[in-house]
Amino acid sequence: MIDPWSSAILEYNEMMEKFGIKPFTKIIEEIKDPHWLMRRGIIFGHRDYDRILEAINKKKDFAVVTGMMPSGRMHIGHKMIVDQLIWYDEHGAEIYIPIADMESYSARDIDFQESREFAIKEYITSYLALGLDLTKDNIHVYLQSENLLVEDLAYIFAKKVNFNELRAIYGFTGSTNMAHVYVPLIQASDILHPQLEEFGGPRPTLVPVGPDQDPHIRLTRDIAARFQRRYGFILPSSTYHRFMRGLTGGKMSSSRPSSAIFLTDSPDEIESKVMNAKTGGRETLEEQRELGGVPEDCIVYEILLYHMMGSDKGIEEIYEACRMGALMCGECKSNAADYMRRFFEDFSRKREKAGKIAGSILDRVKP
Ligand code: SF4
Repeated sequence: MIDPWSSAILEYNEMMEKFGIKPFTKIIEEIKDPHWLMRRGIIFGHRDYDRILEAINKKKDFAVVTGMMPSGRMHIGHKMIVDQLIWYDEHGAEIYIPIADMESYSARDIDFQESREFAIKEYITSYLALGLDLTKDNIHVYLQSENLLVEDLAYIFAKKVNFNELRAIYGFTGSTNMAHVYVPLIQASDILHPQLEEFGGPRPTLVPVGPDQDPHIRLTRDIAARFQRRYGFILPSSTYHRFMRGLTGGKMSSSRPSSAIFLTDSPDEIESKVMNAKTGGRETLEEQRELGGVPEDCIVYEILLYHMMGSDKGIEEIYEACRMGALMCGECKSNAADYMRRFFEDFSRKREKAGKIAGSILDRVKP
């Protein structure tokens, strides 16, 4: 029988082999209190995580960098990043959260003021409500367009990166606007600037990403190597988490509202979305009792796997009962919908409170 946490590794095996990403299953044994996203195989791969682990275990300085894109509503798949940041905050990280307003401007035609307002209302408010205390001194949230140091560093990086290289990675063509071409350099600068002397000098830096972001990571590591003599950069480490699938199967996406649970959906909408999500159930109850369900194909199971906090035991029990045909989809969906309703009722109260301070987060001047 496949175990409840194994499918990610199988799904991403090819990509890991091709690009030299190591499985997280080995290194997890050395983490004293792994996050549930690590324990459940949702974080499935890494590059150079041993540096981060050493920093955590020896209580040394390390940084975590992860951006937010101020376009498209925040959905439940995005919550995974916040859950990880909370864990790294508890483990002593200095956290940097760039808001990619330059990318929004150049690639999606969203002006800077609109990006700022959207980031506050949609993302910063939800990050706070999910429990990441953005008012702490070790957490730095900034707009790319307002961070001159990041922009200057990107310009310095541009000297050693050529257009053909970026074209091969990102598919740029002769008609791609130059602001867009510049964005990967800004992203590399977002990741590497915490290692400048002004910020305490070179230190292990982690970027938690989805597998589609690996080209950025590879480019940034190359750039770090090219500027190692000048800045002493330590190549950034990365972890890779699998994506939550959409409610009807396929990809969960902000541009397809029926595929996603948005963090600002009402509890009623969320309950209805869970009740209508695709399951791995059989055609008839008899078949389900006889053959069992297929949790690996079930979005309801996936919602619980990704978001049911607390012990893993509850998840394992659902998995076993489903596979053994002891649990029927109607009952299972109704339990999941109830769990999600309670979570989101509480979350919407927290969002209301967070909304009162969200606007001030970007106005705070931090080193
Ligand atoms: Fe999914 Fe639950 Fe049905 Fe199993 S019983 S297929 S986990 S909804």
